[in-house]
Amino acid sequence: MRHAFVPDYLLERVRAMDDAHCARCADLTLEHDRRFRATRGAQSLTATAVASGKPWEIHDAEHGTTLPGRLVRSPGDAATGDDATDEAADGIAAALAMYAEVYDRDSFDDKGADVLGTVHYDQNYDNAFWNGTQLVFGDGDGKAFGRFTRPVDVLGHELTHAVTERTAGLTYEGQSGALNESISDVFGISLKQRLLKQSAKQADWLIGEGIFLAGVKGTALRSMKAPGTAYDDPQLGKDPQVGDMKDYVDTSDDNGGVHTNSGIPNRAFYLAATAVGGSAAEGAGRIWYAALTSGIGADTDFAGFATATVDAAGEHADDVRKAWQGVGVTAS
Ligand SMILES: [Zn+2]
Repeated sequence: MRHAFVPDYLLERVRAMDDAHCARCADLTLEHDRRFRATRGAQSLTATAVASGKPWEIHDAEHGTTLPGRLVRSPGDAATGDDATDEAADGIAAALAMYAEVYDRDSFDDKGADVLGTVHYDQNYDNAFWNGTQLVFGDGDGKAFGRFTRPVDVLGHELTHAVTERTAGLTYEGQSGALNESISDVFGISLKQRLLKQSAKQADWLIGEGIFLAGVKGTALRSMKAPGTAYDDPQLGKDPQVGDMKDYVDTSDDNGGVHTNSGIPNRAFYLAATAVGGSAAEGAGRIWYAALTSGIGADTDFAGFATATVDAAGEHADDVRKAWQGVGVTAS
């Protein structure tokens, strides 16, 4: 299953922007994404064939679409001086370290799988994605979006889709899909805050901070603390996320609003992390990880996941129950 960072509804807004150059970029990204969905099987096989037994490898697509591309950096190599390559290398190494040191997980499959990342994918490509086998990063169109390796939480978000795929396997539709999205934000933000050495209380809780370039009125793609407030731009529209069950969006778009309703469990995690205290990764993050790997079913809904987190919370059970109550979800 392929998971992209920027949802289609936002790419469509980028496409509608006045600037003809940028409109063409988002058009190409959307068109490419459609073709990709049709051919992803073949691309996955290509990627598998080059795995070499190292913990991670960075490849360069050199603005083409053949994956994984040319090998440019692996562990032990010095920085290359190419920002996208070095950001991807440092980010993947840090994500593997977080999963190993905090959650005792050996790579995304817990069996030490190599993590492949490809940078400089396609031209003006407005997205980052996990294609079922590897991570892929575009450079952005240079107008609305900058390069997707810059915010490390984007990388953490995408790699976590691979973790979820191999643990709870949450169905990418409706509430289980919004939970799948939220769990990627939970461990993406935990990685960002861990690298910044921030406590849950100090952090800004922004996902994709810095991904928008200067012309866009917005600070990030999402806010876990205040869903719906990350951007409000005349051309891109307003951040559509909701942060409470009373605002839950029933829709058939976006796999049943997976990127919109994920604001509800996202905010529950923010409330839990600040109540539990310490760092998000080592505090509430450990509880969320325990819930994710506790044997919950693929169609788990918000209340079911809330229950799993309360069950995993030990001495923090009351804090976690209250966090979910704070977004209108009752754990049983
Ligand atoms: Zn995602």
